[in-house]
Amino acid sequence: MRVLIVEDDPLLADGLTRTFNGHGFVADTVDNGRSADILLERDPFDLVVLDVGLPGIDGFEVARRARRRGSTVPILMLTARDAVHDRVHGLNLGADDYVQKPFDKDELLARAHALVRRSRAQRHDTISHGRLVMDCAARRCFVDGAPLDLPPREWLMLEYLLRNVERVVNKRQIVAAMCRWDEDMSDNAVEVYVSRLRAKLEPHGIRIRTVRGFGYMLQAVPGDAH
Ligand code: CA
Repeated sequence: MRVLIVEDDPLLADGLTRTFNGHGFVADTVDNGRSADILLERDPFDLVVLDVGLPGIDGFEVARRARRRGSTVPILMLTARDAVHDRVHGLNLGADDYVQKPFDKDELLARAHALVRRSRAQRHDTISHGRLVMDCAARRCFVDGAPLDLPPREWLMLEYLLRNVERVVNKRQIVAAMCRWDEDMSDNAVEVYVSRLRAKLEPHGIRIRTVRGFGYMLQAVPGDAH
């Protein structure tokens, strides 16, 4: 996955670049809006991580130009803490999500992955896991060939777990994957959704393990290649 990082603070840019390069992305990093605008017009990216305050063209203008060209690349904006006006303004210009500075690395990555996943799901994507098939394009899920009823938030949780099979994910990452930028969810609510999914999936041999003190892990199904 290619990510374009646009950040003028050199320390932060360096940290972001390392973070993304170590987690399934290949990062291009620029320190100003003009370079970002040129690269976005020229190259296909899977994600843009875009600081708002930049020299020359600011992050808002970069987002506005990209959308005006018809680009659908997911845009994750980095905003100052409590800058509600910035968030609303960016959303109106076509940003997809926000992370406030200073940000938590895990939350940033979870939001990044969620955006890429949503954007891919709008194209074509099917995930198989044991006896379960999730057709993301058609928004339908089947287990043992029968349709499985999944309300939107259960869907998002299951999709996130399926994309992280055999990896422990914490509650914060799950919340970031399930919620929009302006929503939040308690740890208890996460537990409720996990137990609902378990009730639907365990009869079909699909297990979500609790890893005490860390989070959850969707176990690989014997015979599946992951
Ligand atoms: Ca800045």
